Amino acid sequence: MIEPLCCERVEIALGDYLEGDLPPQLRMRVESHLAACPECWREVQKLRHTVTYLADLPRRRMPQYLKESLLRAHRNDRSTRSLQVGSGLLPLSQGS
Ligand SMILES: [Zn+2]
Repeated sequence: MIEPLCCERVEIALGDYLEGDLPPQLRMRVESHLAACPECWREVQKLRHTVTYLADLPRRRMPQYLKESLLRAHRNDRSTRSLQVGSGLLPLSQGS
């Protein structure tokens, strides 16, 4: 049985989602949440745009550290209310 994800967990997972780093099951759950939640959908468009734009700059690929700090800033921004971040990835990929 597939448990629906709440907005916060989806938003925390967006970085990995855009990187293609989510396990298939979690990815499906994120996608089905995005299909039903305009707020998170907007969020993913915004983040995807930023990541794609930076990654596609001609002859100037976004340095890995910049991409990571961008994604980390996004995670921290969305998750500091209820989660301790700072040590790295949340154990989302072990979910279900
Ligand atoms: Zn949502």
